Amino acid sequence: MPWIDKDKCTGCGVCVKECPVSAIILEEGKAEIDMDKCIRCGKCHDVCPQQAVRHDSEKIPLEVEENLNKTKKLMENFKTEEEKKHFLKE
Ligand code: SF4
Ligand code: SF4
Repeated sequence: MPWIDKDKCTGCGVCVKECPVSAIILEEGKAEIDMDKCIRCGKCHDVCPQQAVRHDSEKIPLEVEENLNKTKKLMENFKTEEEKKHFLKE
């Protein structure tokens, strides 16, 4: 499933023009996909000059990295290795 990385989208409108089923509109200068219309053809992903159109599968490594960072931050609250092990077991 495609999604727009709003931080990268510049609102150039290329994907809006290229979408074969007019599933993309610009809202407040950012592309927005109507998932009810989208046929998952991947065209928007291929044409975006900013690589702002991403696939769900690309989210997984980002989510893993985010979870790792959260866990690392949380582990800073424990002083000993024993406390850390105990926390991870729960
Ligand atoms: S082509 Fe990319 S940068 Fe341009 S509007 Fe679409 S998502 Fe945004
Ligand atoms: S995947 Fe295809 S149908 Fe869906 S928004 Fe992108 S260009 Fe349009």
